[in-house]
Amino acid sequence: MRLVWLAPILLAVQAALAVHGLAAEAVSARCLFIAIQCVALAVISVRYRHDATPIRALWLLLALSLGMQVLWASTNLMAQVLGDPHGWLTTLGVTLSGLYMIPSMLMIARSFDRREPKAVLALDLALSMVVAILLCALVFRIIGGGGPQAAEIYIIIHHADAIDFTLAILASLRLLGIRSAQGRYFYLCAALFLWLNAIAAAIYNRIELAGLPSWSIPLIGIAYVALALAVARPTPRWLRRYRPSRRLAQTIGSFAPVAISLAVLLLAISVSRLSYGLGMLAATASVLLYALRVAFIQSRSQDMQRVAQLNNQRLQQQVGRDPLTGIANRSLLDTRLPAICWDSARQGRPCALLMVDIDFFKQFNDSQGHLAGDECLIKVATVLAANVTAPQGLVARYGGEEFAIVLPATPEPAAIGIAERLIDAIARIDIPHPQSPLGRVSVSIGIAGRVCTDAGDAVTLLEQADQALYRAKTHGRNRYETACWGATPVTPAASPSAS
Ligand code: GH3
Ligand code: MG
Ligand code: MG
Repeated sequence: MRLVWLAPILLAVQAALAVHGLAAEAVSARCLFIAIQCVALAVISVRYRHDATPIRALWLLLALSLGMQVLWASTNLMAQVLGDPHGWLTTLGVTLSGLYMIPSMLMIARSFDRREPKAVLALDLALSMVVAILLCALVFRIIGGGGPQAAEIYIIIHHADAIDFTLAILASLRLLGIRSAQGRYFYLCAALFLWLNAIAAAIYNRIELAGLPSWSIPLIGIAYVALALAVARPTPRWLRRYRPSRRLAQTIGSFAPVAISLAVLLLAISVSRLSYGLGMLAATASVLLYALRVAFIQSRSQDMQRVAQLNNQRLQQQVGRDPLTGIANRSLLDTRLPAICWDSARQGRPCALLMVDIDFFKQFNDSQGHLAGDECLIKVATVLAANVTAPQGLVARYGGEEFAIVLPATPEPAAIGIAERLIDAIARIDIPHPQSPLGRVSVSIGIAGRVCTDAGDAVTLLEQADQALYRAKTHGRNRYETACWGATPVTPAASPSAS
């Protein structure tokens, strides 16, 4: 970026010419000023091409705002060289000075939240257009009434100062509230430029009334030179080290658009002293636009809250689910079984546990393949879940090809009835299994049950159901066996062999 050194060189030439008595209004002095502006613009466009996406938009806005300034200065120069008998160039100059406000305000109000609705950008654009129109209308009104009085010119100057310094203050505030180092560097450059420009314009506008001294031209070039030099530098280390907290960043990010709306409202009220209708119209527009902005953001955040709630619900439903079969998993069983035992103890009602295991499943996998094995597991789980209709009943995948079924408030005969129904239901779906003596998939079931004394009975129930299942396997499979039911051991019941 060797190009950047052109800016201070041009400023030095300007200053040297001023010392040798070159008039501030001289065409050469104005040309040098425009050349300095163009160098700053070129340096910004280089930075724009190098920076990452969200910050690029800010450099573009700054470039647009500088572009308006260059056109404004060029229009004034053309009016000086060519004359402006119809006042068209003056009108164009005033319009460009108003248009300068649009990108300048947008870069201060811009949010870095990509989820922000596009409508908010449109509202910010509309608000900055209100300021541009207000400023242009104010100037046209004053210069339109013939040769403006000094008091009227001061009105324009005061309003311009108010806007310039507000932008400078808000840019400095945003510098403190941006979490990305590149973003902070942008606002450092923007704040530097806006402060120097506001100070130089405040001085320039006042001395202009009494005739411009020769040093006034380098004065307004300083902001552009400082901007070009700052933009060409890499982000300084001290600025990288400073990182605002998330809360501070959010507060400042939300405050900037509020402050801008407030500033527009105050500007509109001030203009209403000169033109009541225009001022009130602008004040209403600024309040309305701000209200719409809040409404859009609120509605978006309500949408996001709703989506987050739904995701949360879905997640909670998924936690505790077996991903293959969709029924409850072991971890949900481990949580629910003690709670069900505790309820059983409180209510004095029996609780049953069925351990279901697919017979010869290893051979099924070996002969049919793992994918067919998975499908078989899904079918068996679906049949088990469909046949357990007890309101509090829980069907869970215990692990591998084993399932656990918890049946609260279920006495032994009912538990046995359910086990028989499950064995029948599996037989009815008739999944072919050539390696099984039955030629189809079958299950064995171990049943345990008791009136629990506390939540710790969950472990006893699991152990007893497992032992009963083992017996069902050793007694021929495709059958159920029951463990000692209740506190007093009784002779275990065995199902008639269905093989
Ligand atoms: P038994 O009749 O005595 O229960 O014999 P089995 O072959 O069913 O029991 P074993 O414990 O020997 O084999 C269980 C098989 O279950 C072994 C394993 O490959 C299979 N398995 C476990 N989890 C899955 C799974 O998620 N998908 C599939 N396809 N197979 C599984
Ligand atoms: Mg098995
Ligand atoms: Mg097993």
